[in-house]
Amino acid sequence: MRTAIVWFRRDLRLADNPALAAACATHDRILALYIHAPHEEGGWAPGAASRWWLHHSLASLQAELQRMGVALHLRLGDSLAVLQELIRECGATSAYWNRLYEPAAIARDAGVKSALRNEGVEVHSFNAALWREPWQIETRECGPYRVFTPYWRALREQLGKPKFLPAPTVMRGVPVAGGLPLEALGLLPDLRWDAGLASSWKPGEQGAGEWLDIFADDAVGDYANARDLPARHGTSRLSPHLHFGEISPRQIHRRLADRAAATDARRRPDLEPFLRELGWREFAHHLLYHFPQTPTVNYNSRFDGFAWSADSEALQERWQRGRTGVPLVDAGMRELWHTGWMHNRVRMIVASFLCKNLRQHWLHGARWFWDTLVDADLANNSLGWQWVAGCGADAAPYFRVFNPVTQARKFDPEGHYLRRWLPELAQAPLPLLHEPWNDPALLRSSGYPAPMVDLAGSRDAALVAFREMRRDE
Ligand code: FAD
Repeated sequence: MRTAIVWFRRDLRLADNPALAAACATHDRILALYIHAPHEEGGWAPGAASRWWLHHSLASLQAELQRMGVALHLRLGDSLAVLQELIRECGATSAYWNRLYEPAAIARDAGVKSALRNEGVEVHSFNAALWREPWQIETRECGPYRVFTPYWRALREQLGKPKFLPAPTVMRGVPVAGGLPLEALGLLPDLRWDAGLASSWKPGEQGAGEWLDIFADDAVGDYANARDLPARHGTSRLSPHLHFGEISPRQIHRRLADRAAATDARRRPDLEPFLRELGWREFAHHLLYHFPQTPTVNYNSRFDGFAWSADSEALQERWQRGRTGVPLVDAGMRELWHTGWMHNRVRMIVASFLCKNLRQHWLHGARWFWDTLVDADLANNSLGWQWVAGCGADAAPYFRVFNPVTQARKFDPEGHYLRRWLPELAQAPLPLLHEPWNDPALLRSSGYPAPMVDLAGSRDAALVAFREMRRDE
């Protein structure tokens, strides 16, 4: 009887799971294992919203495996020690997993791999998360890309007809004692603030497939127009499913390509704008791999001398709670608090407001997003914050300060998004809804705050600080 351990991490699915497929193809029995080891995440242990998602995603994986007659063995502790103990107990000769790209995970996995190999265990790892791994796309000089457009051109050329692996049809588990019940991982919050998350999402492989079907059938054709409108369901909302590996980019690509091929040529959706966004995800992983310090350190070191304002918990708290007095910023922050997700355009606007109008360091925002987003992802979050702050690779120029009023007028002209998340302003007429401070009586009657900063004045101050940084170089 050949036995293998399949170590699930952020690949919580059965289909297109190369580690699982390879283990099942070559072994009689598999031990499906998940180890919760937040101390091994290099200071980026999953935040509260991510833990909520992880709990439900593991429950879903457990159920899927159970249908195949295999238990998901859950453990807490040091990954290497748990693996060594289980290898001894079940007599496994091999360990299989899919690769991760965060610096702490890379270091941990390298250590685990060499320790197990020294003990005579075969180790096999695979790519399950990306179209191309970070080292597979190189410039002509064999270095990393630092600008998105040429990176995407190089990646796009390599994407042929998308293929993916089906879920294994036969699996045989191995009984081992000592597994924990899911609740023992302590992922769910003590105080039940998660009703909004539960009503917004269905974590797990099945939920990911359902979301993809909805997007493929209804929205992908209009993606280029609708993706900037926060009141519309114009984007895929697949980000948390992708982060936890409940679905892969290959599966998404294949599903959309099949759907397009089956559509009459005159109405065939243009998939390129959407694929390009998946390309940004790949670019974020490429950057994190090649510049592993960027979750906390400016990619562009010129910004090390930037005059941020003094850290202010009071300012940050008003931003976090959606009480800045700037409607589009507050609507976004409340959407985030309620659902664990925020529309991409609004993410850019709330981030610009924090970094530029309030001049609080981008890391404060990145940390808040880390705790509150269900799709919190070290690669994408670091790229997003450094992009908006102006200090990232291929970032928005610093002098681009989003004006939340102009943005709201353009992308939420009717105010549907604002009314949804700011119920105290739901009856406010346009154009006041976009600038409620123009009617003090409205502020008084609604209890909505006056803006915490003057938008034009704080923008000018940010630009002065930026010019001084450049002068001091
Ligand atoms: P769609 O528009 O349907 O795009 C499909 C997929 O492409 C997404 O699911 C995502 O995986 C990827 N993608 C789309 N836009 C980007 C982008 N700009 N950068 C990288 N990948 C992208 N995304 C995260 O997944 N996790 C984060 O922690 C995160 N933090 C962000 C922080 C800031 C300040 C900003 C500006 C953006 C951040 N993003 C993050 C990127 C983006 O906002 C989300 O990926 C997107 O809103 C998810 O919604 P969707 O799945 O409907 O996206």
